[in-house]
Amino acid sequence: MKTIFARKAYVEGIWEQNVRLNIDKGLIKSIDHNTEYFNGDTMASLVVPGICNAHSHAFQRALSGHTEHKSASNKQDNFWTWRDSMYRLTSKLDAKNLADIATQAYVEMVASGYTSVVEFHYLHCKTDNDDFSIPMFEALLQAANDSGIRLIYIPILYERGGFKGEELSSHQKRFSLSLDQFFDHYDSVKKNINWPHSIGIGAHSLRTVTCESLREIEVVSNKDQIPLHIHVAEQEMETIECVDVYNTTPVNWLLDNFDINRQWCLIHATHMNTKETTELAKSGATVCLCPSTEANLGDGLFNLQLYLENSGNIAIGSDSNISINPFEELRWLEYGQRLLTRKRNISKKLNLSSGNALFDYISLGGSHVSGNNLIGSLGEGSVADLIVMDDSSPMFAGHNTDTLFDALIFSGVNVPIQNVMVNGEWHVTDGKHRALDLARHNYAKQVTQMFKSVN
Ligand SMILES: [Zn+2]
Repeated sequence: MKTIFARKAYVEGIWEQNVRLNIDKGLIKSIDHNTEYFNGDTMASLVVPGICNAHSHAFQRALSGHTEHKSASNKQDNFWTWRDSMYRLTSKLDAKNLADIATQAYVEMVASGYTSVVEFHYLHCKTDNDDFSIPMFEALLQAANDSGIRLIYIPILYERGGFKGEELSSHQKRFSLSLDQFFDHYDSVKKNINWPHSIGIGAHSLRTVTCESLREIEVVSNKDQIPLHIHVAEQEMETIECVDVYNTTPVNWLLDNFDINRQWCLIHATHMNTKETTELAKSGATVCLCPSTEANLGDGLFNLQLYLENSGNIAIGSDSNISINPFEELRWLEYGQRLLTRKRNISKKLNLSSGNALFDYISLGGSHVSGNNLIGSLGEGSVADLIVMDDSSPMFAGHNTDTLFDALIFSGVNVPIQNVMVNGEWHVTDGKHRALDLARHNYAKQVTQMFKSVN
């Protein structure tokens, strides 16, 4: 049994003072309210629930900062030229370097307050048709165990080059399993993945899977009661191609052809008209927004105001892992909307400030898209995933509990994280992740080597 005495803790959406969290077998077994410090308690000044990173491609961490120049072809850079660079990186990946890259990415996630990661994974083949999906999954699992993060593994189907059934490119063939191979992989992982980790299922995007295959994935999602993840409407080009082939826009097509409900996580959904935005909001699905990646790739801005006005659910993800900091994602999310609308406090709720409302939105959304309703809140029976902050930081000076989340999100990049616990175990203490030095060393070695051979 571990006990934490917190001077302030965000318990089930309410700030409380002087509470004790009694932690056993990875869960918050009970909470003592209005109590005092006992000998043996871990003293914490300010405690909030750990955050779910709802969308990650861990391997792309190795590309961060390497694509911020004009492409070699001298074309105007855009999402698609970035994708070419990302494809070149995938040709260098194997299970060993994926494990090292993912470990570094996950260590950074835990150190920044993410305690769960939804890994959207489609790197299944070594070369054309040479299935190495299990070693690649095991590399991610090892990275999760070494970093301590809770992994929600999402195997992804990728079966065609475009809406018209275009052939896969040589790079894309590394993502492709037949439908039978894909479901065999899913079944095999499902049998072998253990708590605290879990599995979902997904398709890369509407352009890369057929309607029939997506329906089979939906059947499995319903049967196993697991979340279904898909990228959608990230780029305008994708929307134009969808209209060309399906006679309607991507989100509208999904709403017309599938029972979009709470089990679905639509990633990005950047380009939606008013009807799509309101209907998707009312469907119960969650949109995963990835503001730093969406900005970095030039995707565009989501219509957050209309979506929230219609009770839409959101989560956040670090996606390409260009940077790893949940508070930065939330700041970008609100600031993008302010720039778009020329108004302020787009995310606020009735009695909640923007920062507090954003934290609540993404905590609930994270539990939906991970298929785990024990995460995202500090309550009796919840998992013991939590962040301890230093409330003596100047960041919090003059703030009361009404504005603590605003201080965290809007007033600086250096969030004063002292300790992070996942599933009842401390992985960050005194501001340092226990695996930081080794992860950093292995990552630098692998990525230096990879870029020598890419350039
Ligand atoms: Zn993505």
